[in-house]
Amino acid sequence: MKAIRVHKFGGPEVLQLDDTPDLTAGPGQVLVQVRAIGVNPVDTYIRSGVHAVKPQLPYTPGSDAAGVVESIGERVTRVKQGDSVYVAGTITGSYAQQCLCTESQVHPLPSHVTYQQGAALGIPYATAYRALFHRGGGKAGETLLVHGATGGVGIAAVQLARAAGLTVIGTGGTDKGRDNVAQQGAHHVLDHHAPDYTDQILALTGGSGVNIILEMLANVNLDKDLGLLSKFGRVVVIGNRGRIEIDPRAAMTGDLNILGMTLFNTSDEDRAGIHAALVAGLENGTLSPVVGKEMALAEAAHAHEAVLEPGAFGKIVLIP
Ligand code: NAP
Repeated sequence: MKAIRVHKFGGPEVLQLDDTPDLTAGPGQVLVQVRAIGVNPVDTYIRSGVHAVKPQLPYTPGSDAAGVVESIGERVTRVKQGDSVYVAGTITGSYAQQCLCTESQVHPLPSHVTYQQGAALGIPYATAYRALFHRGGGKAGETLLVHGATGGVGIAAVQLARAAGLTVIGTGGTDKGRDNVAQQGAHHVLDHHAPDYTDQILALTGGSGVNIILEMLANVNLDKDLGLLSKFGRVVVIGNRGRIEIDPRAAMTGDLNILGMTLFNTSDEDRAGIHAALVAGLENGTLSPVVGKEMALAEAAHAHEAVLEPGAFGKIVLIP
């Protein structure tokens, strides 16, 4: 089969398309014939060698995909050959024509959901769910700011929060991205590059601020966020690409909570619950991933450049 392999850590150019041996499912494992692959920013951090997760070289990148179950190993009962599934985590890497997963890493893909959409679920939707509900404690009736709503995690957060009865304010950097955020259910959509958008957020909440912020770029926004939260508010740091100075007094006076969140820290029990909720949301139509760009597997290096560029629009997906 064809697979992207990384033989040394470095820039996007280290992603090379290789011929590799076909895979076989061992006990408790599921072999998936991959139809679409989700590209996540974390794939680029791992590839460059700067991430805490440093796979042994050579390795096949990627954790997200969707496809068809080609075969199952002994003791696998949750799926059978021919089932459509989405993959959230793999044993062998998802940037390939086949991937091996543990039974708990594959989830049923309803028939009305495309493989491209299925590839957008693993990291983005699980992250948004855990940040909004497990870390942020989001509840119906609260107001949420999705600070960076146009990308994979942001769109997921907008859909999840809207379905759960929160009032959703989303931000984006382009007209096209913002239009999409509105279509996905945000009640209010603002431009995070506009000089007065923080005033607009306060105006939308009658001056009191939002209950929760899901933050995609904390090194730019965390200080501002503390001025946008209502008393006892929570900001969940999902994305961060540098350092920032904040005034802790703002957190003190408002009894504010600054919460970190990394998907890698999710317990097995929580992960199973998250994916049960995501499958239910796909089935009842409240969740519908947006795919902005499709590229061939061989173009993985371009996809790694594109996923870090501004002007996000849903997910970037590779087709093997
Ligand atoms: P993505 O699809 O590339 O989206 C990036 C988002 O950041 C876009 O909505 C983009 O908006 C927004 N952004 C850019 N400049 C911004 C600003 N000044 N203020 C607010 N938002 C801004 O990436 P993703 O997959 O959604 O992931 C988002 C971030 O979360 C990444 O940094 C990723 O590494 C991180 N992440 C963390 C976890 C975790 O476990 N903690 C899991 C998944 C992702 P425009 O392009 O419209 O400007």
